[in-house]
Amino acid sequence: MLNGIPVSPGIAIGKVLLLDNRISAVPKYKINKGRIVKEVMRFIRAINKTKKELIQIQRKFIDKVGKAHAAIFDVHLLMLEDSSLVEGTIALIREEQYNVEFVFSQVLEKAAKNLSAVDDEYMMERAADINDVGRRVLKNLLARKHVDLSNLKDKVVLISHDLSPSDTAQMNKDKVIGFATEMGGRTSHTAIMARTLEIPAVVGVGDITQKVITGNTIIIDGVKGTVIVNPSSCVLEKYLKKRTEIKSLEKKLSRLRYVRADTLDGKKILLAANIESQDEVHSIAMHGANGIGLYRTEFLYLNRKSIPSEEEQFNAYKFVAQKIYPQNVVIRTLDLGGDKFMSELGTPKEMNSFLGLRAIRFCLKQPDIFKPQLRAILRASHYGNVSIMFPMISGLSELREAKVIVETVKKELDKGNLPYDKNLKIGAMIEVPSAALIADILAKESDFFSIGTNDLIQYSFAVDRVDEKISYLYRPNHPAVYRLIKMIIDAANKSNIPVSICGEMAGTPASVLALLGLGLFRFSMASIRIPEIKKLVRNVSTDDTKKIAKHVLELSTGKEANRYLKSKIKKIISKSEIEIYG
Ligand code: PEP
Ligand code: MG
Repeated sequence: MLNGIPVSPGIAIGKVLLLDNRISAVPKYKINKGRIVKEVMRFIRAINKTKKELIQIQRKFIDKVGKAHAAIFDVHLLMLEDSSLVEGTIALIREEQYNVEFVFSQVLEKAAKNLSAVDDEYMMERAADINDVGRRVLKNLLARKHVDLSNLKDKVVLISHDLSPSDTAQMNKDKVIGFATEMGGRTSHTAIMARTLEIPAVVGVGDITQKVITGNTIIIDGVKGTVIVNPSSCVLEKYLKKRTEIKSLEKKLSRLRYVRADTLDGKKILLAANIESQDEVHSIAMHGANGIGLYRTEFLYLNRKSIPSEEEQFNAYKFVAQKIYPQNVVIRTLDLGGDKFMSELGTPKEMNSFLGLRAIRFCLKQPDIFKPQLRAILRASHYGNVSIMFPMISGLSELREAKVIVETVKKELDKGNLPYDKNLKIGAMIEVPSAALIADILAKESDFFSIGTNDLIQYSFAVDRVDEKISYLYRPNHPAVYRLIKMIIDAANKSNIPVSICGEMAGTPASVLALLGLGLFRFSMASIRIPEIKKLVRNVSTDDTKKIAKHVLELSTGKEANRYLKSKIKKIISKSEIEIYG
């Protein structure tokens, strides 16, 4: 059994398709003078073939996720025109008289080395791009067949070192039934794509490409983050049963789509969806979401070399606002940095740190990026029920500064006679412990709070949320977390402002039990989690949950709290549901 990071729930059982997207051995041999022209022609043919492939993939990508995300292919195509790469290789073939694969790989290596030698994130990403394009050319030179993922005949489970945007763009959900990669984290491009397509997936599975071959039988458990290669008949049977259970449970739960999420004693609970892209807006209704509690706008900024224009953002936000009207959409301003993968913006390397220039800190430093986004959100607010939320607020000054910029933008829109919702609400994410501790102060100047437990937990325990080695310290159900959350809820209630939660805890039954008891009645989660949470909510009374929360607050360790909550949850939902939803 191999372990990784579960990023998209469900069980996939099928045959492996191993994507060989790394070139292991490049042949090296001398050529004679008479062969030079032939080698050069081979090179030119490989370059042209690669261009054609890239253009085809780009077209498919545009159809699937829109033009904005396809700009990365323009960068790749431009690289194939680069004279140092193309003419440099041809000159070297003539000069050194080695085969083209060898010469080209040397040129590539040098170019990538030069780029990554500059201590700059942007340059490093260009180095990755050069390698990506180079691999394609090399594969064509070595006549290795590219697997056309959009044209697979049979259902497969993809296994790969990594999946690039060009790979995921081609994926067909009916044929790619699951995947596992060696690279990636919870918010990597592949993880986001897996959730959007609702394909079971595990990432960060070390060395998996060395442990499987095409045709192996494989099980991907996207809930537990495990991968089993060539399972015994007994294990296979167990997982087939589990998969059937999940399917029938999903079917059963989907019937809850139209019923209310009220507790046994009639308390109305709001269950909203988290989305990463406008494309998800269609599927959230299927899961019975009550609006969008978190629209992570970072997705619009990724895989491209320029920032999205105000108009492009306006169209995306307006589309979502109109589609879900009269329900509310909470649009979170740009939260780049930390584990949000780097865009092509040339942002500083420091943004890779969770403690660095990320989220609102970055936006306040870059009004040229922040203001167009605010303008786009405000303009979209005219077409629906929109709220704005700032990520990573750590103190009052940041909140005030951000709000001043919103006011400036409003004045500009007034001047240009551009309509927006004058009553638009502005909220703060509470995901930094300092913000939780002064929640009473922040509440006086916020229209609402949304608790970001993913970050709140990592900052409270000083545990990098994507570092597998210390994940045992990342304890959502620890009393310390609940104590902080209680402070936030109490502060919001005192100032009479709504408070919701949009971290992963919102979609975890055991945590929801305690959170309800603390007086939290608004939850936002990956939409596939909604039916299960709705079922839970409908089977508890607020009085019972209050007792549970009170007990958890008095426990001493995360382990104790976990055990206690799991024992309580067992009495409410079935064992198989616990297995599936945690
Ligand atoms: C969080 O931190 O809980 C959150 C919802 O935001 P993100 O996961 O995007 O950092
Ligand atoms: Mg966060």
